[in-house]
Amino acid sequence: MQNMAQYDWRTSEPKWQAKWKEWEIHRFDPKSNKEVFSIDNPPRYASGALHLGHAYGYTVIDFAARYKRLRGYNVFFPLCFDVNGMPVEVRVEKVKGIKASDVPRQEFIKMCSEFAEAHIGEMTKQFEVLGESMDPGIYYQTDAEYYRRITQISFVRMFKKGLVYKGHFPVNWCTRCGTALADAEVNYEARSTRLNYVVFKRADGGEEVQIATTRPELLCTCLLVAVNPEDPARSHLIGKELLTPVYNRKVKVIADPKVDPSFGTGTVMICSIGDKDDLEWIMKYGLPLEKGIDEDGRMMELAGKYAGMTVVDARRAIIEDMKENGLLLKQEPLDQNIGACWRCHTPIEFLKVPQWFIKSVEFRDKVLEMVDEIVWKPEFMKIRIKDWINSLAWDWVVSRQRYFATAIPLWECADCGNVLLAEEAECYVDPTARPARKEKCEVCGGKYVGSTEVFDTWMDSSISPLYNTFWIRDEKLFEKLYPMTLRPQSHDIIRTWAYYTILREMLLTGEKPWAEVMIHGFIMAPDGRPMHASSGNIIDPMPLLEKYGGDAMRYYASTCALGMDHAFKEQELVRGNRLAMKVWNVMRLVGAACKEKPHKPSKMHPIDGWIISKFGELVRTVEKHNEEYQFDRSMALTQDFLWHEFADHYVELVKHRAYSGKDEGARYALYTVGLGLLKMISVFLPHVAEDAYQESFKAHEKPVSIHVSGWPEAIERDEEAEAKGEAVKEIVAGIRSWKSAHGLSLNAEISRVEIVGPKSTEVLAGSEDDIQQTVKAMAIELLDKVALIESVARIKPVYAKLGPAFKKDSKQISERLQKLQLDKTPAADGSLRVALDDGRELSIGHEFFEVEKKISSERGELEHISAGPFSVLVYK
Ligand SMILES: [Zn+2]
Ligand SMILES: [Zn+2]
Repeated sequence: MQNMAQYDWRTSEPKWQAKWKEWEIHRFDPKSNKEVFSIDNPPRYASGALHLGHAYGYTVIDFAARYKRLRGYNVFFPLCFDVNGMPVEVRVEKVKGIKASDVPRQEFIKMCSEFAEAHIGEMTKQFEVLGESMDPGIYYQTDAEYYRRITQISFVRMFKKGLVYKGHFPVNWCTRCGTALADAEVNYEARSTRLNYVVFKRADGGEEVQIATTRPELLCTCLLVAVNPEDPARSHLIGKELLTPVYNRKVKVIADPKVDPSFGTGTVMICSIGDKDDLEWIMKYGLPLEKGIDEDGRMMELAGKYAGMTVVDARRAIIEDMKENGLLLKQEPLDQNIGACWRCHTPIEFLKVPQWFIKSVEFRDKVLEMVDEIVWKPEFMKIRIKDWINSLAWDWVVSRQRYFATAIPLWECADCGNVLLAEEAECYVDPTARPARKEKCEVCGGKYVGSTEVFDTWMDSSISPLYNTFWIRDEKLFEKLYPMTLRPQSHDIIRTWAYYTILREMLLTGEKPWAEVMIHGFIMAPDGRPMHASSGNIIDPMPLLEKYGGDAMRYYASTCALGMDHAFKEQELVRGNRLAMKVWNVMRLVGAACKEKPHKPSKMHPIDGWIISKFGELVRTVEKHNEEYQFDRSMALTQDFLWHEFADHYVELVKHRAYSGKDEGARYALYTVGLGLLKMISVFLPHVAEDAYQESFKAHEKPVSIHVSGWPEAIERDEEAEAKGEAVKEIVAGIRSWKSAHGLSLNAEISRVEIVGPKSTEVLAGSEDDIQQTVKAMAIELLDKVALIESVARIKPVYAKLGPAFKKDSKQISERLQKLQLDKTPAADGSLRVALDDGRELSIGHEFFEVEKKISSERGELEHISAGPFSVLVYK
C-alpha cells in the first residue's frame, strides 16, 4: 500500500455527525409501512452536565436503535428532555443562592425554565459527540405546554374515573423543599445520632421509668407509652399513668407486642408523629393527630417554649433543659437508617397536609399481572419491580407544594372545598393564572381559588409512552404505535418510572405500555464505589471525550454486561481507539484489493469458503445476543473475529491472490466479510465505520451511509469448508509461530514444507498454493506418511540439580554427559551411565539431563510441527 494514511477521529467524528444530520438518516417515518421499533427513550433531566452514567446509558440504548435500523425497522427514537420538578428547582436555588419562596412564583418558574433551556443546547451537543442517533424530528420536552397538556388531560380522565382523591392523613414531607414526597422518593440513609435516656415520672408517685428516644423534641406530642406484654420487668406498668418530662402531660402505659423489650429501655413513647411506626399505632389506638412540626420544619405551639425553633435547634434545647433538671440520664451514640429526601437529603417528617392521591394499592395484583406480560431484559430485574409492588402500603401522592412543574388543573371552593376540575379543552391551564370558568361554587356559592399545587414529576414522565404514540392527538398513529416496543432505563428508577408508567397506562388504556423493558446498571468509580461528590471520586466524561472521542467512549459502553454495575476503566477507551484504528486499516486493505465490486465465483478456494461460513456463524450468534441486548457479548465476538480470524489469518492467507488480480474468490470473500463486519461494528463505533465505509466501499454501494445499508446476510454454514479452512489456518499459524520462536522474520523463505497425514490430500487439496505463498516455501508436498529418523542431537546437563547431588563430581559428570555418543540411548529407566577418571561408573538419572532430539527424513534434517491431525515438516 503506497498511501498509509491514518484514521484521525478528531476530524472524522464531527464530520460524520454533521453529515448524518444533513442526510436525516435517523428519521422516523410515520408514513412508512416498515415494521416499527419504538423506543420509550428516557427524557434526560435538564438539570446539568453529562455524567458517565448518562454517557453509558444512552449509548446502550443507541446500540439497540442502530441495530434495529440495520435490521430494516422503522426506528422511533426521540430526542427528549425532562424539564420539570425538583431537580431543576434545587439546582436553581443553589446556583442563585435563594429559596424558591424568596421570589414571586412566576419569577422563580421563569428562572427554572431559563436554567433548563440554557442546558438543553449543550446536552444535545453532548449526545451528538457520543454518536447517539436520536431523532430531533420527534423531539419533546416535558415542560412544554404540548406535553403538559397531555399530563393534565390524563389526570382529568383519571379523576373522572374516580381514581383520584384528596387524602387527609400524614405524608412523607421534606421540610427543606416544603413538599410532600411519594414513598419512592424517600431514600434510606445511614446516619449517626444519639439515643437519649429520659425520665418519665409516675403520676401515682411510684418509681421513675426510663425511655430511650432519638427525637426528644417530639415529647410535646407524646400520647402513649407502650411496653411488651410478655416483658416481666415492665408488665407491671401496664395501665399506669406517666408524666411526660418537660410537659408533665399524663400518658397511659399500654401493652403492645410490637415493642422490642431488648431495644433501648424496652419502653416506647408513641408520638403523633415521628415515623411510620407511630402512624401505625395512632391508627391502631385511634389517637388524635397532633401537629408538633410545621411544613417548614419548625416547632408549633404544642412545643411550648420551643415553638418557632427548627427541629434540630429544639432537640438541642430540650436536651440541655432536661440535663439541667436531671431528666436526662445518659446519651449513647446510635447508627440508624433514616428516611431522607431523594433530592436534598433532609430527613423526612410525617406531616398531616392534605394531598392528592392516585389509587394504586388496590391495583397491585393487576399491575403485577401486567408486569408478567412484559419481557424484562435481563429477566432478574422483574423480581425488583415485583418486590416493590408487593411492598406498597400507600397510594401514590401526586401533589407537590412546588413551583416548576405541571399545574394541577383544578380550582377549589375557598369555603366548602368543592372541586372544579378543568375541562379537557381548557388544558393546558395554570389555575393560579386563570380564573375558574364558573363564577361561584355550585354547592355553597363561595369563591373558586386555583390550585397552587403542582404534580410529582413522575406524573409527566409516566405518560411518555402515551405522548410518544400520539395518544388523543392522532388515533390512527396511536393504533399503529401503541404499545411501544422497548422501554430502556436504569435500575434505580424501577420503583418510580417503570412502576408508575405501567400503573398509569393500565388505568388509562387497559394495556401494557411496551413489549419489553431493558434495564442497565450504573457506572461506578474505578475503585468500585458509587461516584459521589462527597467521596471526591466523580469522573467527568467531557475531558475523556475530548481525549479519546465518541467511539472510544462507546467502546467502553460495549464492554459492560447488561443489568450489572461496572467500575469505570479508562484503559477501555485506549482499547477503543486501538480497535477503531484496526477496523479502519483492515477495511483499507479490503478496499485496496477491491477496486471493483467482486462477484461470487462459481468455484471458491476452501479458505474463502471457510471465512464466509465462519462469518455466517458469527452473524447468527451476534443476532441472538443483540436481540437480548447483550451487546457486550456481541462486541467481544465481533472484535475477536475481526482481529484474529479475519485480519491475522484470512487476510494474510489470501494476500497473494487478492492483490495479484488472478483470483476473484478471495476478493469476493474479503469484500463480503469485510463489509459485513463493518456493518456489525457500526452499531458500536458508528464514526469509524462510516469513515471506512465511505473510504473503502461507498464507490460500489448504493446506500448513502453504512447506517442505512442493512444488516449482513447470515450465509449458510458449510461445515466441509470450515474443516478444511481450520486445517489450513492451523498449519500456517504453526509455521509462523515456529518462525518467530526461532528469530526468523515471517517473510523468511523456507526451502520445503511437507504436510503429512492420512487425509492430507483430501483435506488440503486446493489450499497448497495459499499455504505455500503465505509461509514463503519454495516447495510444498502433501503426503500420506513419511519415514522419520529420530536421533539425539545433544545432551544438556541440568547444572542446578547435578551440583547439589554430586558435589565435586558434578563438573566431570556434566562434561562426560555432553561428550556421550549421541546415538547412545538411555536405559529403560531413562538413566545414562557415565565413566569417571577414577574408574567409577555412575548411573545418572533422567532428571539430571535433557535429551534434545533431531528429526530427519531421507531428504535431510527437518523441523517437526504438529497442527491438528497433521504433521508439518519444515526443511530450512
Ligand atoms: Zn428536600
Ligand atoms: Zn363551596
